Amino acid sequence: MAKNNSNNVMDKLVSLAKRRGFIFQSSEIYGGINSCYDYGPLGVEMKKNIKELWWKSMVYERDDIEGLDASILMHPKVWEASGHVEGFTDPMVDCKVCKSRFRADQIDLSKPCPVCGNKNTFTEARQFNLMFKTFMGPVEDSANIVYLRPETAQGIYVNFHNVREAARRKLPFGIAQIGKAFRNEITPGNFIFRMREFEQMEMQFFVRPGEDEKWFEYWKETRRQWYKRLGLNETKLRFHQHGKDELAHYAKAAFDIEYEFPFGWNEVEGIHNRTDFDLKRHMEYSGKDLRYFDDQSKERFIPYVIETSVGCDRLLLTCLADAYTEEEERVVLKLAPAIAPIKAAVFPLVKRDGMPEIAKKIINDLRGDFRVFYDESGSVGRRYRRMDEAGTPFCFTVDSQTLEDNTVTVRYRDSMEQERLAMDEIKPFLQEKIKG
Ligand code: ATP
Repeated sequence: MAKNNSNNVMDKLVSLAKRRGFIFQSSEIYGGINSCYDYGPLGVEMKKNIKELWWKSMVYERDDIEGLDASILMHPKVWEASGHVEGFTDPMVDCKVCKSRFRADQIDLSKPCPVCGNKNTFTEARQFNLMFKTFMGPVEDSANIVYLRPETAQGIYVNFHNVREAARRKLPFGIAQIGKAFRNEITPGNFIFRMREFEQMEMQFFVRPGEDEKWFEYWKETRRQWYKRLGLNETKLRFHQHGKDELAHYAKAAFDIEYEFPFGWNEVEGIHNRTDFDLKRHMEYSGKDLRYFDDQSKERFIPYVIETSVGCDRLLLTCLADAYTEEEERVVLKLAPAIAPIKAAVFPLVKRDGMPEIAKKIINDLRGDFRVFYDESGSVGRRYRRMDEAGTPFCFTVDSQTLEDNTVTVRYRDSMEQERLAMDEIKPFLQEKIKG
């Protein structure tokens, strides 16, 4: 029952996302390609807003983090040093009867196949490397193999000293990056939850060894607080510290921020104490001295790293799932104004008496500062509903009173309440409301 319900919500969300232009299946006219998605007009705005909110909190509002945009293709030795060539694998099993493929750590192998129901049909588990390979240059041989990065973090580690020197930074400081990552996932699914091409927002914070535990606690708390800015339902968020047996090969401690999706609790963000693992390995594999020199204590050491890593697409799904609300007469996306794709719509109540002209003047005034939408077709009720489904938090309507006193109605998406606002207050009103 619960499962049917949850599938139902996901089906509705997927269909709304397509119909309203948030998310499309990639290459749909060719039957689609599994676990790759395209963002439509509303989706691209929402994704950009999420990235901006993250960047603002990581880079603009602080004075100890610098930005970086490293390339996707890197020297293949990077992935040997990081441990990904050897160890970035998942155990894979196939059902010999129905040929379905599973991650051995995600199903109970002593039970029947969850797809066909036959017993004892699984193959032995094989390790499968999740990195996508390609070739650099015209010759397709093993000397020319390069990988599509499976995480953005390594681009930060190999640039640690470039950034430190260029920005004249001393420890502690961090480097933030947003960019694509690729994983040949065995069982992708749940819409954009697990994709093969996705975007990460990662920050690596470099600290003195011995101060890592303090900074780990600090980042746990800071990231926890950040989720409030997304306006998510707090009862659907939980925080899970990994036990020793759950830790990744590079981590001394890990903490997940999880959300209760319609298909269950799952990780949205990971916060890791990666120790000096990555820099030490890059020092070993590159032969370059990557130690930090502390000019006060005159010591040389390899910094420890605290990482915060969140998938942008997964976070967007979190926000959509959290915002999706069915009410008696409408479907509404109750998105936080800061991440809503369209900030406001402007309507003339009717297409006469100079109302469209005034509404167009208002919208032209807002353009450039905000993503806004003008609509004069259909009843005003229908226009509100269309904006509710798109998650637009405010609608301004020009009516006959506007002609008398230069005020408009502002209609709030969530409460559907309306009040009057002077036309020249619209811009400051929006500026205030959409601050993240
Ligand atoms: P999972 O256990 O779900 O595979 P992970 O623990 O391997 O994830 P990390 O390597 O810690 O994930 O990646 C950091 C973040 O990147 C995740 O919290 C998630 O938000 C995002 N992410 C990882 N893999 C994917 C994917 N295949 N599709 C979308 N987002 C992803």
